[in-house]
Amino acid sequence: MEKRVLGKTGLEVVCVGFGGIPIQRVDQEKVTEIVDEMSRIGINFIDTARGYTVSEGFLGHALKGRRDQFILATKSMAKTFDEMTSEVERSLTNLQTDYIDLYQLHLVKDMDDYKQVMSDTGAYKALVEAKEAGKIGHIGITAHSVDLMMDIIDDMPFETIQFPYNLVERQAEELFEKAHKRDIGVICMKPIAGGAIENGGLSIKFILQNKNVSLVIPGMEQTDEVYQNSLIATGNYVFTEKEKIEADKIVEELHGNFCRRCGYCAPCEVGINIPAMFIAEGYYSRYNMVGYATAYYAKQPVKASACIECGKCLKRCPYNLPIIDKMKDVSKVFGE
Ligand code: SF4
Ligand code: SF4
Repeated sequence: MEKRVLGKTGLEVVCVGFGGIPIQRVDQEKVTEIVDEMSRIGINFIDTARGYTVSEGFLGHALKGRRDQFILATKSMAKTFDEMTSEVERSLTNLQTDYIDLYQLHLVKDMDDYKQVMSDTGAYKALVEAKEAGKIGHIGITAHSVDLMMDIIDDMPFETIQFPYNLVERQAEELFEKAHKRDIGVICMKPIAGGAIENGGLSIKFILQNKNVSLVIPGMEQTDEVYQNSLIATGNYVFTEKEKIEADKIVEELHGNFCRRCGYCAPCEVGINIPAMFIAEGYYSRYNMVGYATAYYAKQPVKASACIECGKCLKRCPYNLPIIDKMKDVSKVFGE
């Protein structure tokens, strides 16, 4: 399998890694089997998060006795120094290790968020202290906003970024180019667009065509997915004619039916976080992660049912998504 260097961390990663969201749906036995398979094949990068409920704990148990075979990454949404200090300790305990290779600030949404995490009482300082104490090796950031990342990329201290990228979400290409020039590792999440792209292998192959990308981390919950995805990391990512036609078809089909989380539809007249509604529904229907989706939706201060059908967002969405209809679907799914 092809290896790439994860930016200035210097870590050599197989360019197909493991994303730890979907294992929330399975059990410890299955996660151990998945880690067995990664160990057998040689996949060497595992990403999880404090927010993925049981994911860190399952992985920690499965990694016992073979922690050294893997580069381990996790992340927390904590924004303050105190919160992040205790989150790092919880990750270490859950993952049953005394060292995490990469710890990331999880989902920094906007400039206000960024200023908070970088302040004297912010979460970044806690990660610097954890690094100095030898508890973590490197510090990264994950985000969904290209605008934010483009604003901060020239000055930010992070060694990696984690960002969505796939056949139908290509908005980060310029960002990746800049990151690569600054020797910042680029980790691609959401390679199948939250389950919207059925041919995941094709999308992963597309992602790896981009030499600014360090690695892609598809979520996997079956051992055969681990094997199939590993077969893509060959170093040759040129599409055949048939694949080109299929990729074009996927892009065309999803163009008007997929939220890119760009946020151009904001502000909603009544304060609904519109992309969050799409995300919640995606987790519920496409990923079948009912518990996670319900908890995520419960945290949204304004529910989809509050939509007054003013239509203002429709004019702003560059992809002409039927947002009003979607709000009705979402409120039906979650019952509010
Ligand atoms: S149509 Fe609904 S979702 Fe769109 S801006 Fe108006 S209230 Fe918000
Ligand atoms: S609904 Fe449209 S404008 Fe709003 S985040 Fe999704 S793709 Fe962007």
